[in-house]
Amino acid sequence: MGVEIVLATHNQHKVEEFQRLVSRDVPGITVLAYDGPEPVEDGTTFSENALIKARVAAAHTGSIALADDSGIGVEILGGSPGIFSARWAGSQHDATANLALLLDQLRDVHEEHRAAWFACHLALVVPPGIDGMEPFEHVAVGTWRGTLATEPSGTNGFGYDPAFIPDGERRTAAELSPAEKNELSHRALAFRALVPVLQRLVPEEPASTAS
Ligand code: IMP
Repeated sequence: MGVEIVLATHNQHKVEEFQRLVSRDVPGITVLAYDGPEPVEDGTTFSENALIKARVAAAHTGSIALADDSGIGVEILGGSPGIFSARWAGSQHDATANLALLLDQLRDVHEEHRAAWFACHLALVVPPGIDGMEPFEHVAVGTWRGTLATEPSGTNGFGYDPAFIPDGERRTAAELSPAEKNELSHRALAFRALVPVLQRLVPEEPASTAS
């Protein structure tokens, strides 16, 4: 039987994206959507918040759990919005207002000081009681570096994408195709860093005895 991992998110889009990546890179693992209590994300870092979500999902289901936490950091703001990315302009989680506020705060900042990055921290929790496995936790990190444009442009993606120009690009993340973003993004980088750890969960095929 294959290994099952629950993904601690209620975002069906993320479940599908991870299912696609896992089936491509780590066959033998099935990603299932998590259906259970959602914890208060009261950590002070992306890693802590990702671990909080993965631990609750693992404890509730008894299965291996994966959770992500992500956001944008701006160098001149000391790494903010950071874990407050989703509610930078208030608790209503309005992506357009968040982006407008951030660009307004940086109105007078010259291009050479507009460095920014997207971060994704992916936490894997293997709870006690999984067949043949010692419990462990691991956090993989992906950082996608770039600069902030002065005006939003592009209609793909979400959140801060219309203002984020990845290093080596002239287009914003919202002007990249979804396939391009999926290759380059902080989520893709974090997932790539997690692949060797996920591979350890899949039992090795017995060596071929063909003569
Ligand atoms: P979450 O971890 O999916 O809840 O994302 C937290 C917040 O970070 C989102 O609400 C966005 O504001 C921002 N964010 C995370 N990833 C991206 C991205 O790929 N593009 C744009 N904004 C992002």
